[in-house]
Amino acid sequence: MTRDEAARKIREISATLHEHNYRYYVLAQPTVTDKEYDDLLKTLAGLEVQFPDLRDPHSPSQRIGAKVPSSEKTVTHRTKMYSLDNTYSIEELKEWHQRVLKGLPGESVEYVVELKIDGISAALTYEKGLFALGATRGDGSVGEDVTHSLKTVRSIPLKLQESRRKKFPERLEVRGEIYMNREVFEKLNRERKKAGEVLFANPRNATSGSVKLLDSRVTAERKLNCFIHSFGVLEGGAAFQTQWEFLNGIREWGFCVDASHRLCRSLDEVIDYCREYQEKRKMIPYEVDGIVIKVNSLSQQARLGNTLKSPRWAVAYKFPAYQATTALKDIVVQVGRTGVLTPVAELEPVECAGVIISRATLHNFDEIKRLGICKGDRVLIERAGDVIPKIVKVVSSAPGGRRTVFDVPKKCPECGGQIIKDKSEEVAYRCANPSCLRQLERRLVHFASRAAMDIEGLGEAAVAQLLEKDLVRDLADIYFLKKEDLLTLDLFKEKKAAKLIAAIERSKEQPLSRFLFGLGIVNVGEKAAYVLAQRFKTLDRVMSAKIEAFQEIHEIGEVTAGSVYKFFHDPSTKELVDKFRRTGMNMEEKAEARGEKLAGKTFVFTGELASLTRDKAQAQVKALGGEIASSVSKNTDFVVAGNAPGSKYNKALSLGVTVLNEQQFFSLISGA
Ligand code: NAD
Repeated sequence: MTRDEAARKIREISATLHEHNYRYYVLAQPTVTDKEYDDLLKTLAGLEVQFPDLRDPHSPSQRIGAKVPSSEKTVTHRTKMYSLDNTYSIEELKEWHQRVLKGLPGESVEYVVELKIDGISAALTYEKGLFALGATRGDGSVGEDVTHSLKTVRSIPLKLQESRRKKFPERLEVRGEIYMNREVFEKLNRERKKAGEVLFANPRNATSGSVKLLDSRVTAERKLNCFIHSFGVLEGGAAFQTQWEFLNGIREWGFCVDASHRLCRSLDEVIDYCREYQEKRKMIPYEVDGIVIKVNSLSQQARLGNTLKSPRWAVAYKFPAYQATTALKDIVVQVGRTGVLTPVAELEPVECAGVIISRATLHNFDEIKRLGICKGDRVLIERAGDVIPKIVKVVSSAPGGRRTVFDVPKKCPECGGQIIKDKSEEVAYRCANPSCLRQLERRLVHFASRAAMDIEGLGEAAVAQLLEKDLVRDLADIYFLKKEDLLTLDLFKEKKAAKLIAAIERSKEQPLSRFLFGLGIVNVGEKAAYVLAQRFKTLDRVMSAKIEAFQEIHEIGEVTAGSVYKFFHDPSTKELVDKFRRTGMNMEEKAEARGEKLAGKTFVFTGELASLTRDKAQAQVKALGGEIASSVSKNTDFVVAGNAPGSKYNKALSLGVTVLNEQQFFSLISGA
């Protein structure tokens, strides 16, 4: 590359990165993924190494964050707040370790490893133990004063606790990460959607938006949290020799420190930790985008020093991103078990956190409008945990100008039936044809699924063949199938057919809650089915209940009450239930049988549950024969983690105890 070409490229990339910085730090609306940003930054840094005289002191490779707009109340940091260098592979991590060793010739090095929480960094200043100032990082030298917002964060102490072992300094500035739990973020976005407000792309953006709010009452409602991981100033009082000592010492003053940190005596231990938490990441109730590895000794840290942008004594090991950008090839419409039409995006296959993604859900037709997507657009997709990927937003429009609007189909794409707009759910369109085969197919698959009647061997392929041969026409028909019927299908040989017949027979004993869930009543998920079964005990009582009886159940909303009542008063449901009855199906919730299912299992609860009080949740565990403990040990079977979980959560992770979120807890108890 010639010098002129390099100069042009450097100018172009720098301008793009400045724009991305502004979108990310100031607007909290990035248009590229972090990996794409980092790759661009790497290219720039590479060119600047090749042509050092072309490096501008204001280059994005030399700067942290973005300048705080002059309209904000600013704070000049007493010591600079650095960013972190990123590594994306174990190889890069090893190279960093070699650089550390080179900087400390002949010395041995210990590391402290911590979770890299994906929130926004903040500096908290305490004068004589009282919280005096809270600031964002800004460009590392000047941040924004957000004291009023940070005072609402419950995990930030307003007054420090006295510690017998270490007196807190006269003036203390600690640094940490303000973050939002995933469940709180999802609830916030649901509410914003209802109110027609712009959705936040991720918890980090939601945190950033919440901290910068002027009305701290709204910030308080956002339930932010804070973990401390570093310090800026320690004057007049305690001193620390190591990062390990610091993290454990400040807890005694009342600060929250993520308890997953670990002391590693070798790089191999560091690598083990990175791999371990890359796996555990999905179970953590807040976003963790990597691991931060820090040299433990503070004197070694001082000798290694900092570059303009980041310390040489620390590095981030970034996990593969859950986001990626790709092209939208088409939008197709699927028909669900209740007839609801769901648009699905067909994507140019792209890798996202180790999985190739070629489809994403669009939820409903309003979502297409909200996102403003058209065929050919480049879109940002996100995979959160194991759920179906979703489209976050359009990154750039399809070339060529004219944008074709996607319309709701006039007829059911599967059976050609009439489409109606569902009045109970403003956004849903349904196929109104009760004999739409695709609906029946989905209903059967749902009925047989693990969380419902749990009929092993009755998956999508078997259901499709049964329908093709016209062997079943409704849910109850599967109980009249004979082995000989199954043997007419390609999928089945003698042994497999006998196994399925036995599984179908066994499923007749499932409790009422599973049967109710399996029926696929609109708006009745696992939890609502469980609540109904607990309340009414028999199907007859559910069927004869007045609508008020459903409405007065706290956990069942108006809409669900209406759809349960409507379902059981439909003549076709009565016919179907009679048919089930003839098969000898259990239609009761047998309390005594269920009472043994969690026998011998110990549960510990931490954090706040969103849909019921902890007392009620614990009572349900006890009713199923389980036990409740107050602390986590190796003998704990499950830790149920709600919003803002405490140290019990981290202990569970370190002991390898299974951690359940609220949804998983409900699946477990209703499955039990
Ligand atoms: P960063 O987020 O990669 O890492 C530094 C920050 O990590 C620190 O400021 C600190 O607050 C935080 N952190 C979390 N846990 C920590 C712990 N245990 N110990 C120490 N620090 C911890 O760096 P950054 O400077 O905030 O952002 C740079 C990165 O942001 C880029 O590398 C890129 O991935 C992303 N970015 C993306 C875009 C975009 O458009 N997508 C734009 C700008 C930046």
